[in-house]
Amino acid sequence: MFYEKTVGSTRFFAFSELDDIPGLLHAFTTRVTDTLVKDAFRSGEVAPAKALFLSNLGISPEQVIQLKQIHSDRVIRIDGNHAGRRATEPRERADGILLARSGLFAVVKTADCAPVMAIYPEGRAVCALHAGWRGTRDRITKKGLSLFLAETKARPDELVVAIGPCIRRCCYEVGPEVIEQFGEAGHDVNRVVSGRYLDIVEANRLQVEELGISRFLDSGMCTACRSDLFYSYRREGQTGRLWALAGFRA
Ligand SMILES: [Zn+2]
Repeated sequence: MFYEKTVGSTRFFAFSELDDIPGLLHAFTTRVTDTLVKDAFRSGEVAPAKALFLSNLGISPEQVIQLKQIHSDRVIRIDGNHAGRRATEPRERADGILLARSGLFAVVKTADCAPVMAIYPEGRAVCALHAGWRGTRDRITKKGLSLFLAETKARPDELVVAIGPCIRRCCYEVGPEVIEQFGEAGHDVNRVVSGRYLDIVEANRLQVEELGISRFLDSGMCTACRSDLFYSYRREGQTGRLWALAGFRA
């Protein structure tokens, strides 16, 4: 179940199915996450919205790994010394993180694109992917999870994959050139397109299924339908960014 929870002075969404995994910390922020933080700092020094969110979770910005997201299918592995890398200064140009070290937390930023988070509880490892239509077309989920399986030596049935709020087939009208590109890239257009609407959740779910991973959690939330809760680039243009965060505590 995808539900809203409160921790300290912050609120965000989480999957109840992932809450029981020992050591795992995961969160999907909303507009409310940011608003509550601003309210908390109404006077005096205004901390960045996400800083208080992190501090409520008990993690410092230095423990957060985020990327300069470029709508690619590039996935990078983080395992070495990343101390001093600040959450506010993403450096690597990529759209996926393989994180095999405890004490670090991967963040994917979205406003309509899909955050795809894979968890390997036994290995205390996570894989975080940013899948918009381009990344989905280029199969970042299949590529990222294949690398994740290879790196961790996990079996597909040992992983759980979760997809957070994103724009869905109810709202994601695309041009014929986009549908054409999905066809050319070998996607099953009959399953991922209906009329002029693209279903990026189904397109990513199929990639997960092709790898033999059956544990797939779907938030069921559409960012464009629920722009009261989430940021939607399609609906609003200039807007904020949602964070999907996951990692294991050291
Ligand atoms: Zn919708």
